[in-house]
Amino acid sequence: MNGKTVMACIDAAFASLKEHTDEIASLDQQIGDGDHIFNLLRGMEALLAVKADIEAEAFGPALELAASKVLSTVGGSSGPLFFSLLSGMAKASAGNAPDVAGFAHVFSAGVEAVGLRGKTGVGSKTMMDVLIPVAKRFGELAAQGASAREVREVLPRVAEDSMLATRDMLATKGRASFLGERSRGHIDPGARSSQIMIAAVCARLAQHNK
Ligand code: ADP
Ligand code: MG
Repeated sequence: MNGKTVMACIDAAFASLKEHTDEIASLDQQIGDGDHIFNLLRGMEALLAVKADIEAEAFGPALELAASKVLSTVGGSSGPLFFSLLSGMAKASAGNAPDVAGFAHVFSAGVEAVGLRGKTGVGSKTMMDVLIPVAKRFGELAAQGASAREVREVLPRVAEDSMLATRDMLATKGRASFLGERSRGHIDPGARSSQIMIAAVCARLAQHNK
């Protein structure tokens, strides 16, 4: 894994988010202010604008560069949170291009950084309801010596189940929490966008390693 792999994953995440623009916009209109997908797409476009710079870097520095672009372009609550994810991953990678166990550790460090920034864990109806179960399962798979292929097959399913589970949750963090009980019955937009990106990245990495 290097800057080229990081950029390939960003490209894949961007393509899939674009395909789901209307759906994510509508989710955020129901329990937020509707800007979530547009915040993300703006960030993705900024990342594409520095594609060559990201590709030229090693794994960790490529993530760090992507993190700084995300921070300066993605607004809303999710900008600083996705910055924390990428920057937390960059710090934990310490310049290495990790294997399965290493990547599980790196991802989990990124998710922990999001938790510190957003001051939330599972059950608040946020992106953390996808990120935490995925990081946890990733760690378990790594501890069992799972192959990269197994990881790429299992994690999208965990992400999807976890995303769907946000539908019945009561929002206690972010804008959706202002709705109280009325937040129930809608999937969290950040959980959906995170799940879409995880699925897209796993699919792209599978192509890379064919
Ligand atoms: P805003 O709510 O400021 O308009 P966005 O629309 O960009 O920001 O992002 C909304 C998403 O951010 C929510 O769907 C939720 O997943 C996530 N979110 C909000 N607050 C938090 C938090 N404290 N921790 C983790 N995720 C959060
Ligand atoms: Mg919003």
